[in-house]
Amino acid sequence: MLSLYNTFSKSKEEFKSLNPGKVGMYTCGPTVYGKVHIGNFRAYMLSDITRRYLEYVGYEVRLIKNITDVGHLTDDDVAQGDSGEDKMLKAALKEKKSPEEIARFYEEYFKLAEKELNIIPAHFFPRATAHVPQMIKIVEGLIEKGFAYEKNGNVFFDVTKFEDYGKLSGNTLENLKVGARLEEHPDKKNPWDFALWLKAPENHLMKWPSPWSVGYPGWHIECSAMSTEYLGNTLDIHTGGEDNIFPHHEAEIAQTECYTGKQYARFWLHNRHLLIGGKKMSKSKGNLFTLEDVLEKGFSAMDLRLLFLSSHYRSQMEFSFEALEQAHKNIQKINDFVLNLEAAAARDLVSPSTIDTKSVQEKFEAAMDDDLNTPLALSVFYEFISQCNKLFATNHLDSKSAHDILALWKKTNSVFGLVLSGQAEIPEEIKELMKKREQARHNKDFSTSDEIRALIEKHGFIIEDTANGPIVKIAD
Ligand SMILES: [Zn+2]
Repeated sequence: MLSLYNTFSKSKEEFKSLNPGKVGMYTCGPTVYGKVHIGNFRAYMLSDITRRYLEYVGYEVRLIKNITDVGHLTDDDVAQGDSGEDKMLKAALKEKKSPEEIARFYEEYFKLAEKELNIIPAHFFPRATAHVPQMIKIVEGLIEKGFAYEKNGNVFFDVTKFEDYGKLSGNTLENLKVGARLEEHPDKKNPWDFALWLKAPENHLMKWPSPWSVGYPGWHIECSAMSTEYLGNTLDIHTGGEDNIFPHHEAEIAQTECYTGKQYARFWLHNRHLLIGGKKMSKSKGNLFTLEDVLEKGFSAMDLRLLFLSSHYRSQMEFSFEALEQAHKNIQKINDFVLNLEAAAARDLVSPSTIDTKSVQEKFEAAMDDDLNTPLALSVFYEFISQCNKLFATNHLDSKSAHDILALWKKTNSVFGLVLSGQAEIPEEIKELMKKREQARHNKDFSTSDEIRALIEKHGFIIEDTANGPIVKIAD
């Protein structure tokens, strides 16, 4: 039984989808006016793991991840070419690229990075700029029903009209009076009202006609418009980073529920921040790392993926290159495990099975059922790998067990999503020698094949001939 921690109820709840067997899931996607950093990817990893485990237990999932491409660039930004802190963005502005061109560039960057991290693509990535009519329709509906008001071409949501305002974040109007920073706007009735539509200043580059002004939508309204457009009025799961809880998700609930009269999202999942030296990774603090920074230091995207899996999404995660180094070692350990299994499976060794894969699978599922506890699920495997390694060392793993374990690994790795390098780390020249050796074996020229084997071993590699062909590994 899968239970998920619901930020809305602040408790773990048993997950059941609204429609049997089908899950509608929405994840707040990237703002594409800069490179997505690895802190952002923690949120997309949460969404990926949730989706993968739901599929593992048999649900058909439909995942929507929006692209926030409504940029707030002005003529001045373009003239000065120095909006934001992102070098690429500055360069693009200097080159007089349009907001659309810049957005497409970073959208592509985001999708490539997701691919590297083996995050399964959402079923659809709707762009905010393509859904302005839907947003206008919701805003019109909210004005009609008395939940929103217009002044001087700007439209705001009246938070005092929604009884449940603050239920997700705890920022009820009562509590808000005390703390929290707010955005001032002279046309607001109440300080905590939020913008649904804003009149564009003269130099604003992206703007659309609307019944109220030539302007642009508020940020929150885009997610309400795109989620309901593709998933219906009630979503099973809405995910995002903890910094989205307020005001973004609080506002999404308010405007969507007032518009549809229905519950908006049944489960709210939020990951906690990724920290560097105890501080949140952010542009303003200058402690940002992108996937490229990680790759440049000689790590792989899979090292990073495993690092993400190694801490629970609701715990703060401290990022360091030392921790990444440990993840790298663990990837190698898993890689060796799978290579050893493949060799053992191909070997025809018959002996009474000593491996209980069923209990490993049960422990894995118990960990994942408990609010997607990936670190615990991984530790089940690490323990199992140690157990298997003893059998590999003494050549005692029979081929049926090896087959069973491989099947179990494949199934569970559909959730972990680790792409193992397998033979990828083997240098080209060794691969060439392997080919020549195969040719020699094919020609029954065994003295040549033995010579080549010796040469390969001299380079620090070992060959294992399996029924599926030889595998070559780095010698320990
Ligand atoms: Zn959103």
